[in-house]
Amino acid sequence: MTSPEPITLTTPVDALPGVGAEAALGLRALGLTNLGRLVAHLPMRHELLEAESTIDQLQVGVNGSVRGEVTATRPVPRGPKPRFHAVLVDDSGRLELLWFNALYLRDKIAPDVRLRVHGVARPYKGGLQMINPRFEVLREGADDPPTRERRLRPVYPASERCDTRVIERVIARNLAHALPLIEDHLPDAFRADRSLPTLADAYRMQHAPEDEDEVLRSRRRLAFDELLLLQLGVHLKRAHLRSHLRAPAIRLSPAVDRHIRERIPHTLTPGQEEAVRDVARDLSQPTPTNRLIQGDVGSGKTTVALYAMLLAVADAHQAALMAPTELLAEQHYLTITRILQGSRVKVELLTGSVPTTDRDRILRRLLAGEIDILIGTHALLTEDVRFKSLALAVIDEQHRFGVHQRSRLREQASDAHTTPHVLVMTATPIPRTLAITLFGDLDISVVRGLPPGRRPVTTIVANPDTRAAIYADVEQRIAKKQQAFVIAPAIEGSDDPAAPLRDVRTIERELNERYLPGRRVAVVHAQLSRQTRDHVMARFRSGLIDVLVATTVIEVGVDIPNASAMIVEQADRFGLAQLHQLRGRVGRGEHQAVCYLVADPATPEGEQRLGVLAATTDGFEIAEKDLEIRGPGELFGVRQWGLPPFNVADIMRDRELLALARRDAADWIARSPHLDDPGEQLLRKRLLKTYGESLGLADVG
Ligand code: ADP
Ligand code: MG
Repeated sequence: MTSPEPITLTTPVDALPGVGAEAALGLRALGLTNLGRLVAHLPMRHELLEAESTIDQLQVGVNGSVRGEVTATRPVPRGPKPRFHAVLVDDSGRLELLWFNALYLRDKIAPDVRLRVHGVARPYKGGLQMINPRFEVLREGADDPPTRERRLRPVYPASERCDTRVIERVIARNLAHALPLIEDHLPDAFRADRSLPTLADAYRMQHAPEDEDEVLRSRRRLAFDELLLLQLGVHLKRAHLRSHLRAPAIRLSPAVDRHIRERIPHTLTPGQEEAVRDVARDLSQPTPTNRLIQGDVGSGKTTVALYAMLLAVADAHQAALMAPTELLAEQHYLTITRILQGSRVKVELLTGSVPTTDRDRILRRLLAGEIDILIGTHALLTEDVRFKSLALAVIDEQHRFGVHQRSRLREQASDAHTTPHVLVMTATPIPRTLAITLFGDLDISVVRGLPPGRRPVTTIVANPDTRAAIYADVEQRIAKKQQAFVIAPAIEGSDDPAAPLRDVRTIERELNERYLPGRRVAVVHAQLSRQTRDHVMARFRSGLIDVLVATTVIEVGVDIPNASAMIVEQADRFGLAQLHQLRGRVGRGEHQAVCYLVADPATPEGEQRLGVLAATTDGFEIAEKDLEIRGPGELFGVRQWGLPPFNVADIMRDRELLALARRDAADWIARSPHLDDPGEQLLRKRLLKTYGESLGLADVG
């Protein structure tokens, strides 16, 4: 006879003691295929089970647990609420049990069955009663389980096929085998300095905590691990890029600086000056820049980008500017060609809708170095787009581009070890908390303040029944030759009567027939052809249209200084950061602008959200609030980033832990830039397994 295989972390669930065929199937369906996976399957919460007592010791209104024998049952199938009564008796007394909508209990609970029940006792006809208590049937013949002490029971993410109790039982039975096999990837001294338990202890405390404190302490360790791992990945990548890749070091001179400033049609704001200084310093280095330029809507980031691109061009290199939509790319193209009119700088536009023959010509000239600045959409990221000497890539509106796209850019360079400097501009202020998580590999400049003469937009949260007054204001503005945007949440209305959506056509009709008869109203949205959209936008820009009814296609970057009013319909359907973006489309000119957020917020939360917008025009504060209210998952489609969501860590709740992890990771990589110390093997392995792909660490490993 062979002795049974010892149990290890890779032992399949089917081979674990206490796992039957049925349970194994259920566990597998949850991805819990072996003991290691089971141990890593953490409880989502813990419920407090009181110590067992006798019936006469139960206290009214308090959770309690007793065992006894059923002496009578009475199903009541009829009536508004079918119910099931039972009487439980022990040596000390008697307890009434009552379950609603649980007639199936007839098959489980009958006189003479022994039960252990848990619930809150209430007074009932001079005695005690528990309503809908949880219960266990104590098996006939088997020994009764020992009397239970007060304990925290783990509650696991489960499924219909696999109850949390099954998971609990299997883990409880096998945890002792697993714990000694769990290796810690953090050195003892490092752990001890931060008062973190070992990994094995942390798992033990999650699955079988002695008390609430253990639950918290172990959670802290596991959350820290997730945050540290991501930060290490980000810093490792950055160290790698710094040591392996070269970027063109751009020569600066006072003459070039003067020339560029002469071209730019306005004096830089202090915020722009600061960003320009950061960027110029970066570009003059032979190590690739990765800088995030954060600036509130209208802070003038395009000017900063243009300055940087012209630095590259003046030193005989090329620059690229990428926008998230064709509309924006075209607008950048228009702005920049206008500013550079009469100069020798050659600017071209390359988007998905440039005809093939033009495209081929552009590509040839690009490779020959005959184009200095190429502006476009992600069409710039296709393989056949080759530059002669790309020194700088500017990405506008970072959140629409992923990490992958950023690394693609690198492949665009002419040789394997040269990469362009990368500047990322975002007008959606990314809260610092999130920025350091997602962009830990970027330096950050903030363009503070607005250009002179720009007055903050007045924001009014308005009830839908005040539309007439709102449009009376719009009418007056139109009479003064100003223009307005109306933003609708949908292109087509929804048929769902519970959630009716206001769509562009309905709003257009209302304006024409009711609120603004005789005024020139047009519609623009993403389903129109590009020509149609361009045409409408061009007419709006030149003042041939008074009111533009649009979806969020106009969200970012659209610059029409004459527009002074914005009405957002069903504003509660938009994210705060998005509303802030939208609002930034007005107030770009000389007129005092207004933004009406029309909403009928159904919840206090909804009201609070819109209130934030009315109270402040500081995009950073708004973004931070948005993150707080909605959580990071909803923000800018964090998923798009290809970063797996954390299991335990929560960016808001664990801010301090995040800061700690970030500092630790920076120190760690400074000490050991390749993470290749023998003592770091395990950490490195876990890091690559978790983030190797999403952070593109392949070339690092
Ligand atoms: P954003 O940061 O939102 O991309 P833009 O770069 O589009 O902002 O600039 C917003 C507006 O402010 C544009 O019309 C631009 O011409 C103008 N602008 C930018 N910088 C200045 C400045 N220093 N002085 C005056 N106007 C400026
Ligand atoms: Mg912009």
